[in-house]
Amino acid sequence: MRVLLTGASGFISAHILATLLDYGHDVVATVRSDEKAAKIKQSYSHLPDGRLRFAIVADVSSPEAFDEAAQRDPPLDAVIHTASPFHFNIEDPKDFLDPAIKGTIRLLNAIKKGAPKVKRVILTSSFAAIIDLGRPKNGAGYVYSEKDWNPVTIEEVLQDPTNAYRAYRASKTFSQRAAWEFMEKEKPNFALTTMCPPFVFGPTVFPLTGSESLNTSNHLTRDFLRGNFKDKIPETGDFIWVDVRDLALGHVRAMEIEEAANKRFFITAGYFNNRQIADAIRKHYPEYKEMLPTENAPGGGFPEDGLLGYDNRQTINILRIRFRSIETCIVDSVASFKDII
Ligand code: NDP
Repeated sequence: MRVLLTGASGFISAHILATLLDYGHDVVATVRSDEKAAKIKQSYSHLPDGRLRFAIVADVSSPEAFDEAAQRDPPLDAVIHTASPFHFNIEDPKDFLDPAIKGTIRLLNAIKKGAPKVKRVILTSSFAAIIDLGRPKNGAGYVYSEKDWNPVTIEEVLQDPTNAYRAYRASKTFSQRAAWEFMEKEKPNFALTTMCPPFVFGPTVFPLTGSESLNTSNHLTRDFLRGNFKDKIPETGDFIWVDVRDLALGHVRAMEIEEAANKRFFITAGYFNNRQIADAIRKHYPEYKEMLPTENAPGGGFPEDGLLGYDNRQTINILRIRFRSIETCIVDSVASFKDII
């Protein structure tokens, strides 16, 4: 297939790009600048002409962002949309909402208008679009699946504009909802599939320019290596996660498998906690012993109240992913970015 992949310089997208190329697909990758395209090109200089091309999309929320990228010769068969801000240096909720919502809808419009051969569109959404943060005891005992939606409203976001976490989660919820509404209203020639991963950890693909260029979800592991949690392990977020390589394969399988069309996928490997991350680093990288909390340090375990439940059977049955363990993931992550910490 000939696939348009947005945000190709990103952490997750870089793995999707590698997987697409490994599986024999040709890719048109969007990045924000010629400089970013040149860096990626360097990593794939061995590829024959035409297997990897680029389109510059400096800002996904600008009005004609994707018009040129969608109109390709030879034409596109599929689209994977990952580009959306995932960092917490925002000043206003709009900094999340606009690129997420406008970016998604402008892309879907551009495909409908300019890429009539496209049959499959895969959107990287998030477990943020599934979880209900209002559940008692952090959702302990409730089993989340693809049928669940985060009930966050725009009013809640605007009432507390400095709450960047809420604005981010809302951006993922509203953009995914907007995409399904587009499908309903516009009845385009393509099918939509949305991917809803929780925390994504794993090695980085492209050489990093410095620790500030490390993606947001790997900051936790980085902060263990920096000695930030020597006395106390921080409490764990939602306790569920997925390895970036399994998520990338999930995107590619979702695009290739007919049965995955018109579905949401809650793609998680299962439970983890921050103590397991510290244990994995201590076991495999003894040189970091002094930077890490000891085995007896407090914090970071599973809560006594119990955990939220998850049902990932649809992902396992249709996408047929065999998930990596948290230990493997952390060992490979540390190897990939320890030199720039
Ligand atoms: P990254 O920050 O590494 O990647 C985000 C990509 O989007 C980058 O290529 C970035 O470009 C691009 N981008 C952001 N804003 C814009 C914009 N306004 N216009 C054009 N491009 C833009 O994050 P991840 O790879 O971790 O995240 C990718 C997707 O996965 C996001 O949609 C995120 O919400 C979702 N996700 C991530 C999870 C995680 O734990 N990592 C968990 C669940 C979902 P540049 O770097 O040049 O700014």
